[in-house]
Amino acid sequence: QIALVWHRRDLRIDDNPALSEAIAQVGDQGKVLGLFIFDPDILDDGVTEGSKVDFMLGCLRELQTNYRRLGSDLLFMYGEPITSLCSLAKAINTSHLFFNQDVEPFAIKRDREATQALQEIGVKVQSFVDIGLIAPDAIATQAGEPYKVYTPFWRNWQSKPKPQPLDAPQKLTGLASYENLPVIPLPSLRELKFINDITLPESGESAALALLEAFCDGNGILRYQTERDFPAHAGTSTLSPHLRFGTVGIRRVWEKAIAAQQLVRSDEDLAGITIWQQELAWREFYQHVLFHFPALATGAYRPQMQSFPWDDDPEKFEAWCAGLTGYPIVDAAMRQLNQTGWMHNRCRMIVASFLTKDLIINWQLGERYFMQKLLDGDLAANNGGWQWSASSGMDPKPLRIFNPASQARKYDPEGEYILRWLPELQGLTTAELLSGNIPPHQCQRRNYPLPIVDHNIQQQKFKRLYQDCKIN
Ligand code: FAD
Repeated sequence: QIALVWHRRDLRIDDNPALSEAIAQVGDQGKVLGLFIFDPDILDDGVTEGSKVDFMLGCLRELQTNYRRLGSDLLFMYGEPITSLCSLAKAINTSHLFFNQDVEPFAIKRDREATQALQEIGVKVQSFVDIGLIAPDAIATQAGEPYKVYTPFWRNWQSKPKPQPLDAPQKLTGLASYENLPVIPLPSLRELKFINDITLPESGESAALALLEAFCDGNGILRYQTERDFPAHAGTSTLSPHLRFGTVGIRRVWEKAIAAQQLVRSDEDLAGITIWQQELAWREFYQHVLFHFPALATGAYRPQMQSFPWDDDPEKFEAWCAGLTGYPIVDAAMRQLNQTGWMHNRCRMIVASFLTKDLIINWQLGERYFMQKLLDGDLAANNGGWQWSASSGMDPKPLRIFNPASQARKYDPEGEYILRWLPELQGLTTAELLSGNIPPHQCQRRNYPLPIVDHNIQQQKFKRLYQDCKIN
């Protein structure tokens, strides 16, 4: 028997349900091979950027090395996934296909079609819950409905037993020969017609595990409550690109968070762990709502917000993208995004509020820009974060409007983060940096823009438009 494990956003051998099950079902006598398909429709969607592809290639390189070390191989194909799967399945006489499930509407449809096509040619297909600890359809309100609000979701979610991680396999058996198969070697970034000009964090499974251990075995998780909101501090795990590409399994992450309870010395330490777990639950909340309300992927959840009179001024949008709005905390955050492919969560909320409530620009433009730039860009979390910020989602109350200057004073009190990303503002006093109103002659001298809008005027305007939509 020959089993294929179709990897998509689970680029690891540890804690991998599809791989473990392939070995359990055919591994003893049969062969287990990994497969990754480069789908041109995803690569050429106009949103995917070279940085993300480059990060992914690093993950795939390590995954292939791991497969080879264990005695098998990870195969690569380029093309439409269903046609590719069927042609490989026939070429190697595949008996089984295993994969881990996704929650995105596009992926669910593709997987349903792939399952049917493979079953028609006699392949046994099985899929597994992997992306979250609790499957999106395994949790519901007392009335049996999907959740629309986070807090009751969390209460139920946290009370549910969580699955244990699955150990990485020790050995695999592959094919005797890989000649004449419809597969390609791992392509380079250039061969995929991308370039990347940012310095990437380390990719792959071993880097993910090292990050997780450093965060959970050290003080990171214990100090999370006090540190997580300060973008100048290394107060969060930075695991998000790894969770996006599945270089670490969510059961392994949960196991480490639970094990950190042994290190707790104070209520504050314990709160650190709980709040981090709540963030993991936010991730699953957004997966849950996307799964149940796939229309979220293409528009506002609240009908009133679908016709909101956004003012999509292209110049202002460009200034926001480039970090040239004249609001230092916003600009610092956008430069961090553009230069590293990651942005601190506090800053994501600040820039999203600024785009939607100060510039009154449609959140979907921001959502798309984030997807382009973020290494962790993930439909469920990104859409959830944007709809939360735009007050267009399921839980819009209270109406959230962030004042960039007070956010900066509270979360970057020394202006350290601002100066890290806006070196042209060196020499200004902290008070000037945080005032939200840098003196015009200082802006001019430093070639830094004056504020492109007035926060107070714009927030009044937004509130009026919001009232007019009879939303409250
Ligand atoms: P930590 O604080 O260490 O948290 C651990 C993990 O929990 C994260 O890696 C992430 O997987 C998950 N998580 C944490 N906060 C959230 C949250 N609010 N919503 C969902 N999951 C969360 N996260 C993404 O992974 N991809 C995105 O595309 C994305 N877009 C966002 C857009 C906006 C407008 C906002 C406000 C938030 C967005 N987030 C997104 C959520 C959050 O900002 C990031 O997950 C977090 O900053 C990643 O850093 P970290 O790994 O250090 O997180």
